[in-house]
Amino acid sequence: SHADIGLIGLAVMGSNLALNIAEKGHTIAVHNRTASRIDDFVAMAGPLAERVVPKADLAEFIASIRRPRSIIIMVKAGKPVDEMIEQLLPYLEEGDAIIECGNSLYTDTDRRFAYLQGKGIGYLGVGVSGGEEGARHGPSIMVGGAKAQWHNAEPVLKAIAAKFKGEPCCAYLGEGGAGHFVKTIHNGIEYGDMQMIAEVYGFMRDGLGMKPAECAEVFRKWNEGPLNSYLIEITGHVLDAVDPESGTALVELILDKAGQKGTGRWSAIVAQELAVPATTIEGAVAARSISAMKDERLEAEKLYGARRGAEISLSLDTLEKALLAGKIAAYAQGFAVMAKASEEKGWNLPLGTVAKIWRAGCIIRSRFLDQMSAAYEGGPARNLLLVPDFVELMKANHGALREVVAAGAHGEFPLPCLGAALSYFDAYRQGLGTANLIQGQRDFFGAHGFERSDKDGVHHGDWPATIQVEAAEPQV
Ligand code: NDP
Repeated sequence: SHADIGLIGLAVMGSNLALNIAEKGHTIAVHNRTASRIDDFVAMAGPLAERVVPKADLAEFIASIRRPRSIIIMVKAGKPVDEMIEQLLPYLEEGDAIIECGNSLYTDTDRRFAYLQGKGIGYLGVGVSGGEEGARHGPSIMVGGAKAQWHNAEPVLKAIAAKFKGEPCCAYLGEGGAGHFVKTIHNGIEYGDMQMIAEVYGFMRDGLGMKPAECAEVFRKWNEGPLNSYLIEITGHVLDAVDPESGTALVELILDKAGQKGTGRWSAIVAQELAVPATTIEGAVAARSISAMKDERLEAEKLYGARRGAEISLSLDTLEKALLAGKIAAYAQGFAVMAKASEEKGWNLPLGTVAKIWRAGCIIRSRFLDQMSAAYEGGPARNLLLVPDFVELMKANHGALREVVAAGAHGEFPLPCLGAALSYFDAYRQGLGTANLIQGQRDFFGAHGFERSDKDGVHHGDWPATIQVEAAEPQV
């Protein structure tokens, strides 16, 4: 008898996905470059091993899968994926599909999709979010690529996905790299969510003098309200943890240098490429980069002195509301990036569906996304700041964001994300901006022309000539 599906790459993510698949009643063939991992996997599978077909030989592995074949690859992102595709190609037949589930750059997925399409092989680039736990018990699954082959794999992928009120958090989103693109933006939004939470924690720690356990208590309370989300929940747990050796709160022993693997950066880069303002996401990426410059920060602190420690009179309620307003701005930006990319790439991304499949399983799952998916239902994909329910929310909360950003400026708290969120909102809602001056400057030095508010067409100013003067030698 043949396996329903195959999977290559039995590291953390692959082995958990494979167990999830077997648990849902599907027979799965498994393979890994290093054969010992296959034995380890079978041992770990326990009773589920009866639905696992372990194959150390690649040809035998492929022969053991029911046709048309669906083969998941879960290997290290980048070159290993291309190598794996080349190794598989000689064995594959028309109609088979490779389902790549790693954190791949969406342009790589576009390229692989086109390459395999030319060979009659379906290629699906699938974003999987939820970490190890999600892979094992139900991740959010963002599918892109070959639609025909998606239908072959659909029952298995929907069975293993997280469920929100019974609905699987798994959907086909568009051709080529669409799935990996959406996963990238998910991670960009995740960066923004995390950074804004960290900024609020900064006020609690340094402005209000709260201990980690007291902060944890606040996050637990917030998790009952509009901010209810996985990230707020785990923030409470992180703040509550105590180092067993020293008895100190663990968070106070963790070095303040954040790591990053690239998906946040890719989101910021693609936003810039598409000319979509996504300053909150960019701010979060920059915040991680500046956090990594620990030595320079210590040097600069000596030069400028430590933060003044001005009195902060913000209420916890104001911080909660500011976080909600910042979150609306961050999601507005992320969804605007997806809307623009969809238009440029012809993906037809269903943004309401994206919000739906992020309601469970993934890292940014939240009550907020349930509200968003409802708001997007059926309607056009407009900027979230124009969607009625969110207009009301923003009206009710941007005052708090303003108070927090003002307190940050006075109290010398860096707010790369919350500050960017407020500026984005203020710029977005400003009917008369200041780019008239920019256009004047551009026309002055580059004759770029400008539009006028009182006449049609492109115009130029009658600017005075400026003479290029050589810089004078400084007087000693
Ligand atoms: P790793 O990214 O650490 O990759 C290890 C696996 O890749 C092993 O099975 C390894 O085989 C295989 N591999 C590496 N190079 C090659 C190659 N040249 N040819 C064949 N196989 C190769 O594993 P993870 O499980 O952490 O992640 C898998 C993917 O999922 C990555 O793209 C990751 O970014 C993504 N991801 C990870 C998440 C996480 O929380 N860890 C969350 C969401 C996505 P061998 O045993 O022989 O070395």
